Amino acid sequence: MAPGAAIVASMDCLTDDLIAAYNGGPAFTLPEPPPALYAAAPPPPPGAKGLYGGRMDNHVDSANFTVAWANGDATTSAANDASEALEAAWTALVEEQGWAPPVSSDDYFVWVILDPGLSGTGLTYELSTDEYPDGYPVILLNPNYATNTRFWRSLAAHELNHALQYARREYLSGREEPWYWEASAEWGAELALPDVNMYATSSVYYADATEARYSSMEGYHQYGMFPLNAFVEETMTGAGGMLAVWERSEALSDERWDAVLEDALGVDALRLFAGFSGAYAEETLRESSMYEPPATIFSFDGGEQSGEVNYLGSDVLQASRGMWVELAEGDALLANGDEVGARLWVDAGGHFTVTGGADGAAYTLIEGDEGDTGDTGLVDDDGGGGGGGKKGGGTCGLGAPRQGAGWLGLVALLALGRLRRFPPRRLG
Ligand SMILES: [Zn+2]
Repeated sequence: MAPGAAIVASMDCLTDDLIAAYNGGPAFTLPEPPPALYAAAPPPPPGAKGLYGGRMDNHVDSANFTVAWANGDATTSAANDASEALEAAWTALVEEQGWAPPVSSDDYFVWVILDPGLSGTGLTYELSTDEYPDGYPVILLNPNYATNTRFWRSLAAHELNHALQYARREYLSGREEPWYWEASAEWGAELALPDVNMYATSSVYYADATEARYSSMEGYHQYGMFPLNAFVEETMTGAGGMLAVWERSEALSDERWDAVLEDALGVDALRLFAGFSGAYAEETLRESSMYEPPATIFSFDGGEQSGEVNYLGSDVLQASRGMWVELAEGDALLANGDEVGARLWVDAGGHFTVTGGADGAAYTLIEGDEGDTGDTGLVDDDGGGGGGGKKGGGTCGLGAPRQGAGWLGLVALLALGRLRRFPPRRLG
């Protein structure tokens, strides 16, 4: 987030409410779709998209969407803005970047309902009926946020990303699942509407709690994790990296995202998240200047120093002078903007991170000697640099995935294009 910029509204896809209900908490009541939506329409003529169900009081149709609202709930201006943003996002994501379109949208408009009674900013779920057992994504947008045009456009793109995700994977499969949906929908809003840049404000939710477990959903942390996707695409895969992860996730539907990311990107999860945290802390991502700096930055002066981090969460530190920093013990990895390993060179004032390999991972840092090999024996740090130089001794950059075969497999998957759809589900 740019200094001084205010967060006027934050994304809230009601994830916490949904997951709490899934885990036995208070029941989550889905906003009732208009009755017309349940009534299946006959298939449209070939080559044209039609309306699934009936009409609400008002609507704005476009090539791929119908934006509808009840009298008094929204304005035509809000509907037009949402419609334009959704079509622009569709063009970018579906037509230009290769995302498979939402379930059922080959034949029908995607339903978008403007609902000021929504307790959050937006929600996308999948309706399934006997007439349309493949399911039908419904996007709800809260028009109370429509006057903030940048936010409104970004929200529309964010929710479209969820509709695209539903074509790939189940949502309600436990607390470890939703974080990457939100991290991806925020990055997807940037991929869809790169001039809007509202996504960057969500970085504060990561910056406020870099040490949290990667899958945390405390304090909207899941939205703040989008820069992981920035890191993947900007330093590892180029464009299409996030899509490739989603495509790979279909075959790994029972796997947690840390395992999916490892498989899709050919790099172990600890190394991946360490590299991401180092790039974030050193502000080496393409739009880092718009991201919020980490709220907590410990200083490191070379004396023995201990801390504790969670699984794939990171402490951020700043070196008081140029020095080698070494991980004396701990299930963790060090990283800065250049390197990942058990030993790093950090310039005076430079930032580096310690990323945990387990929840509550205790670690101890020491200043390394100039002549050390950098091999602490604690981790596979791909050493071999032999120390001595200021860069590259005993650490390994993330520029190229270490397991090339994984990446080749991913490229092959990309070439497969559209994959199978999931069986019907009612809510996600
Ligand atoms: Zn969302």
